[in-house]
Amino acid sequence: MDSDKKPRLIHLVIALESAVLLAFLLMLTPIGGRLTLSENVGSAENGEAESGAPEDGETERLEKAGGGNAEENSGQPKEKEDSGRPESDDGADGQPDSEQKDYIKWVDFDIPADALKKAFRCDIDTYLADIHLNWIEILAYLGTQYGGDFSRYKESDMDAITARLLTGEKMADIAAEMEYYPYYLEAYTAVLGGMVGEYQVEIPGAQAPEFALPKDENGNPIPTEDNVWVTKYGLKAFSPIAKNYPYTDYDDFGASRDYGFHRVHLGHDLTGQVGTPVIAVESGRVEAMGWNRYGGWRLGIRSLDGQRYYYYAHLRKNYPYHKSLQEGSIVQAGDVIGYLGRTGYSSTENTNNIEDPHLHFGIQLIFDESQKDSDHEIWIDCHELIKFLSINRAETVKDESTKEYYRVYQMKDPAIPGGAAEQRIPEQADAPS
Ligand SMILES: [Zn+2]
Repeated sequence: MDSDKKPRLIHLVIALESAVLLAFLLMLTPIGGRLTLSENVGSAENGEAESGAPEDGETERLEKAGGGNAEENSGQPKEKEDSGRPESDDGADGQPDSEQKDYIKWVDFDIPADALKKAFRCDIDTYLADIHLNWIEILAYLGTQYGGDFSRYKESDMDAITARLLTGEKMADIAAEMEYYPYYLEAYTAVLGGMVGEYQVEIPGAQAPEFALPKDENGNPIPTEDNVWVTKYGLKAFSPIAKNYPYTDYDDFGASRDYGFHRVHLGHDLTGQVGTPVIAVESGRVEAMGWNRYGGWRLGIRSLDGQRYYYYAHLRKNYPYHKSLQEGSIVQAGDVIGYLGRTGYSSTENTNNIEDPHLHFGIQLIFDESQKDSDHEIWIDCHELIKFLSINRAETVKDESTKEYYRVYQMKDPAIPGGAAEQRIPEQADAPS
């Protein structure tokens, strides 16, 4: 919010070969032109399906220790599907202190994609302005106003709060009297906190603005066919389904499932073709990998701030994962991590027992480590979030010799300390097919 403390956007573009690439990128030097990119490289057209309310049988009051209860927040699904928890882990988590600790115990996340997009645009459009609007604060303000029920959302409400902020009013003052604002700010930050920021990314030289091109000795831009690096402020989280691969989905969070015992569905299914490259939504560390009788071949990836556990399940039989991965690996947002399939619902490893090939995608929020593998896991409805993330889908390229897929455009997510390894096709890329 405070414009003089805000780092300025860099527009440094450096030829790939440059040995001092990183050093340059880290220098914050304001340069005239501006490249605001929400949609990275291309856009998405996906079929959107009907939505429906989760059919939760259970309700539970929101408990935020010290903050009282927000009665609007209820509807905790009772049981979970394929959480990625190792089956040997019986979760004997008698954590006596956790009851006393002050952390969020429940989050309903129901912000529609339209509201996410609009708030996001307010944020990126004001990034270089004197007053930089923060999309999560705007959404937290509205969430507080609506008692957490975004079915009440109206665009005009967002216009009203952004207009106030743009006159110079501070959110801290506006929200000072709103008892639950800190809760919504923390809850929505847990969901969205890793998605928007500055990062470096490659774009095709042919699409690069002049300031992004390499220069000759007279400072004139040299056109190039190569990719060039730019620094952007924008959406750095990706759709879990690679660009150019069709999928269908609908709001299936909380629907009932019958394998094993009756459970509710704590994730979101994206139905597509077997072999579709599955993409890391956010950068993180591989925490779970291997067979789970519900999820089949699955991956659990924890965000580097520890607050989000991304769960990708039913991956392809025989070749579920990108070969670079193992437990503990750091993946970068936009990397290929595996392949869509139909494994799972069997205690026998490597079994296809899912009728319709799909990616089961889930996001678990973790405010306290005791929540991770417990009866109090917080899984959120990702349907609208996935719709929002579909504006940023990673383009992939196949290595014909190994059949492995790789990302086309490299990225440097500053969330990864020391930077991530590039995921580049071994013999330098042909044109993406
Ligand atoms: Zn599922």
